[in-house]
Amino acid sequence: MTAGPIKLAVFGQPVAHSLSPRIHRLFGEQLGLELDYSAIESGVHELPERLATFFAEGGRGANLTVPLKAAGLELCTVTAPSARLSGAVNTLKHAPDGWHGYNTDGAGLLLDLDRLGIDPAGKRILILGAGGACAGILEALTSRSPAAISVLNRSPERARRLVGQLRHRGILYGGGFQDAPTLPAHDLLIQSTSAGHADRLPPLDRAWLSATATAYDLNYGTSHRLFADWCRDAGVPVADGLGMLIAQAALSFEIWTGTHPRIGPVLDGLRAR
Ligand code: NDP
Repeated sequence: MTAGPIKLAVFGQPVAHSLSPRIHRLFGEQLGLELDYSAIESGVHELPERLATFFAEGGRGANLTVPLKAAGLELCTVTAPSARLSGAVNTLKHAPDGWHGYNTDGAGLLLDLDRLGIDPAGKRILILGAGGACAGILEALTSRSPAAISVLNRSPERARRLVGQLRHRGILYGGGFQDAPTLPAHDLLIQSTSAGHADRLPPLDRAWLSATATAYDLNYGTSHRLFADWCRDAGVPVADGLGMLIAQAALSFEIWTGTHPRIGPVLDGLRAR
């Protein structure tokens, strides 16, 4: 008897636009593994029931995307430090005692920064936005010994709260965009707001950055466009978040299958489309 495909899925709302099924199909092809990876629409309230049905039908691993990452934490019997520290789960793996939860966003960002040759060590980092994505990357960035990290958000209190939880991990500042002129110039700008999805930009000023600063946008595709334009006009080299998306997916894939796919060929494949 042959084992069937490994049954996996991404849950979210909306989820139809997700690139995850395509990315994981490419991973499976690369490693000769047969996968059945689907996209399942679910809001927060339906998640426990949808996951139970998925498991009963043979599902063994799942990704969670907006708006389910915080809710996912409640459903896990075991959570990795990455999930606990960020308060969000993006990867679930089924074990005999229930779902185990992980967050691969932070490690995914670090993998992509390594690929791009951007070293956070000793840098003054400015993160715009303090939502779930920022929570996922903040702890990982502190592990690379930056000189300081400033998190500025439209709702300043959200940034202060997030930073307050990690204060012991380094020099962190949390506040509103209006605080930027009072801070020393930053060397690495990380754009983690979702403003681009509404064709908007968070407040930005070239003077907030050092002369040699670089930028990284967690967004990609059309939601990256306005920020890319701003960076070009300001003379700041910028990378989009497609590499991070694939890297965090590769880390999920490794949690489920024990094998780490190569990111480069999948990135080339998606860019070519
Ligand atoms: P959340 O909904 O949790 O947070 C959204 C954030 O954007 C908040 O800080 C919010 O501020 C801010 N924001 C929204 N609109 C504006 C605006 N017009 N001006 C200024 N700030 C604004 O989303 P996530 O944190 O989960 O995701 C953020 C982005 O990162 C998304 O675009 C997502 O697609 C992307 N992402 C990419 C990943 C990748 O692998 N490349 C992984 C995860 C996310 P406020 O708190 O004041 O509302």
